[in-house]
Amino acid sequence: MAEFHYAVDADGVATITWDVPGRSMNVMSLQGFQELDAHIDAALADMTVKGVVITSAKKDFAGGMDLNVIARMRDEAGDDPARGLFEGVMAMHAVLRKIERAGMDERNKGGKPIAAALPGTALGIGLELPLACHRIFAADNPKAKIGLPEIMVGIFPGAGGTTRLVRKLGAMAAAPFLLEGKLSDPKKAKAAGLIDEVVEDPVAAAKAWVLSAPSIVKPWDEKGYKMPGGAPYSPSGFMTFVGASAMVNGKTKGVYPAAKALLNAVYEGALVPFDTALRIEARWFTHVLMNPSSGAMIRSLFINKEALEKGAVRPADIPDQSVRKLGVIGAGMMGAGIALVAAQAGIEVVLVDQSQEAADKGRAYTESYMDKGIARGKATPDKKAETLGRITATTDYSSLSGADLVIEAVFEDPGIKAEVTKRVQAAVDGTCTIATNTSTLPIGDLARAADRPVDFIGIHFFSPVEKMALVEIIKGRETGDRAVAKALDFVRQIRKTPIVVNDARFFYANRCIIPYINEGIRMVGEGIAPALVENAAKLVGMPLGPLQLVDETSIDLGVKIARATRAAMGAAYPDGAVDDVLFWLADQGRLGRKAGAGFYTYDAAGKRTGLWEGLDHYPRAADQPELSEVQHRLLFAQVLEAVRALEEGVLTDIREGDVGAILGWGFAPWSGGPFSWLDMIGAGRAVAICDDLAARHGPRFAPPDLLREIAARDDSFYGSFGQSARAA
Ligand code: NAD
Repeated sequence: MAEFHYAVDADGVATITWDVPGRSMNVMSLQGFQELDAHIDAALADMTVKGVVITSAKKDFAGGMDLNVIARMRDEAGDDPARGLFEGVMAMHAVLRKIERAGMDERNKGGKPIAAALPGTALGIGLELPLACHRIFAADNPKAKIGLPEIMVGIFPGAGGTTRLVRKLGAMAAAPFLLEGKLSDPKKAKAAGLIDEVVEDPVAAAKAWVLSAPSIVKPWDEKGYKMPGGAPYSPSGFMTFVGASAMVNGKTKGVYPAAKALLNAVYEGALVPFDTALRIEARWFTHVLMNPSSGAMIRSLFINKEALEKGAVRPADIPDQSVRKLGVIGAGMMGAGIALVAAQAGIEVVLVDQSQEAADKGRAYTESYMDKGIARGKATPDKKAETLGRITATTDYSSLSGADLVIEAVFEDPGIKAEVTKRVQAAVDGTCTIATNTSTLPIGDLARAADRPVDFIGIHFFSPVEKMALVEIIKGRETGDRAVAKALDFVRQIRKTPIVVNDARFFYANRCIIPYINEGIRMVGEGIAPALVENAAKLVGMPLGPLQLVDETSIDLGVKIARATRAAMGAAYPDGAVDDVLFWLADQGRLGRKAGAGFYTYDAAGKRTGLWEGLDHYPRAADQPELSEVQHRLLFAQVLEAVRALEEGVLTDIREGDVGAILGWGFAPWSGGPFSWLDMIGAGRAVAICDDLAARHGPRFAPPDLLREIAARDDSFYGSFGQSARAA
């Protein structure tokens, strides 16, 4: 079935309409490119056609390239994948360049105006195609997003978008769109120069324009073209490129191949004529597509993230469980955030706390959040009233009547939680699902307070709720499929990404992040320079070093978790050396950022000023380890825990393990997640490194059997767990 349609009207305007069958959003496929090419040829060859408008029959223009196609392109490129990819990319360039030249001769004579008319969102190739046209019209649709988000999934705009945007705006002005994947609504996109006009009816405006277009020659095809802001070897360009290079390396620490390749393509492309620049862009794009990091990022951050959001692990055969009325018990930090995101999703919320004052304070969180949104132009007073209107703050449990999901976020105390569960049950009817937001208490134990453990489940949010994309859903021993479907449908309503795990101490995310923090603290106790620990973490792509992370989450929380774990494990408790440092810090009153003192020092405004010199309490070892040794300790502390979680059946799907690690605790996103990283370095090499670490640092690094088995078979995690990546 055709993806692009072609029609010529009585005025001689050919309209090419993008309408991929069976999808709500257009995405570009190889077939789509071929059809587009054929329609452009037809329009240029037809003497009666005066101009062309490219638009979409859907409410948006396009969501981008079908990244599955890129993944396949590489996999199917045979013995010489780089050449296959390069030629495929150059073929795309040829179509877009044909649109841009539109039949003009070498002296820029002739040619037909081609305009893009965007009804809504235009992302990735959905903007690169319009950038090749001669004028871009967008509907005045404040919900539309326009931009080039490729960098977010480990690639960069490789269908000419990089080269065209830099030549259109200059390297400096193009930087936020290319390097950060910044998206804008149509008005802001026009102000930034990404598009040309915002109008009520973009197709009508585009048709009128192509019939009267004064000139269609792109500035870079004119003689004497000068790049805005200056080419690299000009005084202003020199400043831009030196600054950009420092900025990119500062932000990416050199671990994201796409950002470096993008900058190379921009710099080298700026020194040569346009068509050569496109070839250079294609070479760097191929280089990125050939890098295992980009493949892993695409798989986790695009393909599998989307699959999880669309219900890849949802129990089949359970009808839609969308939440209409939500109860939230406990209006503290977490409860207030959960109420906010649910109300934003259009769900009626009853927010219960012990006192009216506490409940009102929780509701006021939404008020101040919406106020900030209004100040930044992201919300309106009407939207605020509507959202707040959905939240009832009360002490009265009977208001929960009719709720189909209640989430408890009260103090982390099993006794209090049990009492709350009983009170909720008395107020709701027999079909209501009850969930707990506990971060540490086993779901199976908390379910004992429930009359219907089959309808009891863990829904674990991360803080701050409105920012963190991951929600960890935890099944207790007796949790039934309907409760799982309920939790998943709720997470879909609030537009977050779910993973579903089984019940075990710390579930999945916290289970992996605690050993990371502990390994960092342990190294301080061993006399390893704290700055080496922190920098090693950042240079391997962790967003926060372990010492900064524990300062953020608070030292006293660390102490509390350590005491509880020690009590649960008894003599087998392995982290005494960590506790020595942690408890000593707590004794000094250094409780982390909130106390203005922790592993770091802070100024009066709460800004970190440096690592605390008092850490010299642990005498600095004369021999400091290699950077890679510190990095291996920090990474394997997390990764082995993820493998154990899989081995023990806490995780049942490595896709969830990878996506959850990146979204839940920021595990080195360039790697695609812990399982992707192990596949990248190879299980055999991982076993060798871990055997060595275990011999020198202790059995916590001993490779789990599953890792050894995969190494012995010379296999990989994604290879072992097949297409769906689910464990048996
Ligand atoms: P908080 O102290 O900010 O809020 C708890 C709220 O519960 C308070 O407003 C308190 O008045 C209320 N409360 C206590 N007993 C109650 C009762 N019997 N009835 C009604 N309300 C009651 O705590 P928080 O940080 O929001 O954490 C809440 C839960 O979420 C805990 O189980 C915690 O482990 C979990 N959690 C916290 C985080 C985090 O980063 N803070 C992250 C994930 C999960």
